[in-house]
Amino acid sequence: MVTAKARAVDGPDQPFRAAEIKRRDLDSHDVLIEIKYAGICHSDIHTAHGEWGPVNYPLVPGHEIAGIVTAIGPNVLKYTIGDRVGVGCMVGSCGECENCRNGEEQYCLEGKVDTYAGVDKYGEPTQGGYSTHIVVPEDFVLRIPDNIEFDVAAPLLCAGITTYSPLNHWAAGSGKKIAIVGMGGLGHMAVQIAHAMGAEVTVLSQTLKKKDDGYKLGADNYYATSDTETFEKLAGYFDLIINTVSADIDLNAYLGLLTLDGTLVNVGAPAEPLSLNVINLIGHRRSFAGSMIGGIRETQEMLDFCAKHNIVPKIEVITADQIDEAYERVLASDVKYRFVIDISTM
Ligand code: NAP
Ligand code: ZN
Repeated sequence: MVTAKARAVDGPDQPFRAAEIKRRDLDSHDVLIEIKYAGICHSDIHTAHGEWGPVNYPLVPGHEIAGIVTAIGPNVLKYTIGDRVGVGCMVGSCGECENCRNGEEQYCLEGKVDTYAGVDKYGEPTQGGYSTHIVVPEDFVLRIPDNIEFDVAAPLLCAGITTYSPLNHWAAGSGKKIAIVGMGGLGHMAVQIAHAMGAEVTVLSQTLKKKDDGYKLGADNYYATSDTETFEKLAGYFDLIINTVSADIDLNAYLGLLTLDGTLVNVGAPAEPLSLNVINLIGHRRSFAGSMIGGIRETQEMLDFCAKHNIVPKIEVITADQIDEAYERVLASDVKYRFVIDISTM
């Protein structure tokens, strides 16, 4: 058993504190990973604050994990000591249901095992990547391509795949007009990926403050949603809208921006229910959809796609003592564009 240093939170209004957690002995197909960097996803904040429902504290969040394999179980086939690897939002699934067999483990009919705030097959609560070590079954470990550094690899494991998957599923590509709502952690990945897929990309951000960055990341257009003219000008324009906003927004206004048969996909997961007027769907045969991360096979495909197209997140590296401050800044939309914890500072 390995004792890992970690940062844990004891309740919805509590600050992070230093903690020690036990990582289980390696089962036959387990891999022990020494974590180098862990990204801070807005989902960590929703969960740590108890916004999505009751949480068993103490909680160690973190599902954007990059590190090195330091030990392997006796029957591990895919990885060896020294491999550069990543772990995302899930560390298990039934492996047998139709969705698992189709490589969509995130939609496991028995329920996936979340990297933190979940329960593993041994009945133990899972604890995430704000820690020095983690034990993960090899089937839920990803290979980090050689040309992607550990610090920028970490956010790909959630922000990267969560935007790649719907862009892939709804066939973003040449000739498609795509809007990305919100240019935070997920949004700034979506811009780069949609651009690399060949689509025309428009950012819809609250203000024009990040406009220059948006263009540098590959956006073709950039509009402020605080300006009502934006919604008049772009009415009926987009084939696909990816909404990455972590809060309640006026969906009806955004549905009006879709063309005939256009789709608005929510990846943003605010705690409050969103409301929409179905007339906005009926009138132009539009769809409203959701999407959750991506399967393991697709996550590897995304990593290789990012390696090929030189796509990495823009990050701000912080120490383990700066997590509370980083959470405040994410909540204030003051993040450019992902905070990543340097685990050596644990
Ligand atoms: P983030 O870095 O905080 O980005 C969210 C962005 O939304 C902000 O940067 C801001 O962009 C915009 N925004 C925030 N509050 C807003 C408001 N009140 N009105 C309008 N726009 C607002 O968060 P993230 O890590 O990208 O995560 C975004 C959401 O996706 C979270 O809800 C998270 O839980 C969810 N998520 C879902 C999945 C999934 O599998 N579906 C996976 C990961 C995360 P601008 O400054 O550009 O306006
Ligand atoms: Zn996430």
